[in-house]
Amino acid sequence: MFLKNIRMIGVLRLGHRVRRDKRISTHVFLTARALGANFGVFTGDEDDNIINSLAETARIWGGSFKVEYSGNYVNTINEFKNKGFKIVHLTMYGLPIKDKISELKCFKDILLIVGGAKVPREVYTLSDYNISVGFQPHSEVAALAIFLHEYYEGKELDIKFPEARLVVEPQEKGKKVLKCF
Ligand code: SAM
Repeated sequence: MFLKNIRMIGVLRLGHRVRRDKRISTHVFLTARALGANFGVFTGDEDDNIINSLAETARIWGGSFKVEYSGNYVNTINEFKNKGFKIVHLTMYGLPIKDKISELKCFKDILLIVGGAKVPREVYTLSDYNISVGFQPHSEVAALAIFLHEYYEGKELDIKFPEARLVVEPQEKGKKVLKCF
């Protein structure tokens, strides 16, 4: 069984640019939700489309994942630190995930940070951990997905969302979706 409710994982996406990042910022949060994170925050340009898109996803597919906008990443990081969250910044320059994941699994409340364009130096110092998923540049979505997969040891793939209106029934071929209410 997937014990999601005993952990609180948030994802802070830095530096959203409304024109360039519309799809990828939404994909960051869709991935976060689907793979066991509980909430999202983004900085940069304000963009209601992201907030509305995730609200609509949760309305149809269940769960309570919510996204908020923050005008100041330093305040947001400090706010979560004060609540007892560990701050984990995903960056190709950090320490290897394989060396640190056992330690990170001990923490129940984590704020994961992913960047977009250049990440301010301050983020590296404010974070409790800077963690790399390989040492090549790739994507915030890939880094997040692999982190959550390692953190949850694959249990996130069995996640069930409460109050889902639609639930997929897996098929060898074709599509089957059950309407729940
Ligand atoms: N130079 C950047 C960096 O510091 O990882 C790559 C920029 S990439 C377009 C945007 C975001 O994807 C980064 O800020 C980071 O959060 C994530 N990312 C990309 N490659 C990564 C890697 N190998 N390990 C961890 N995170 C990565």
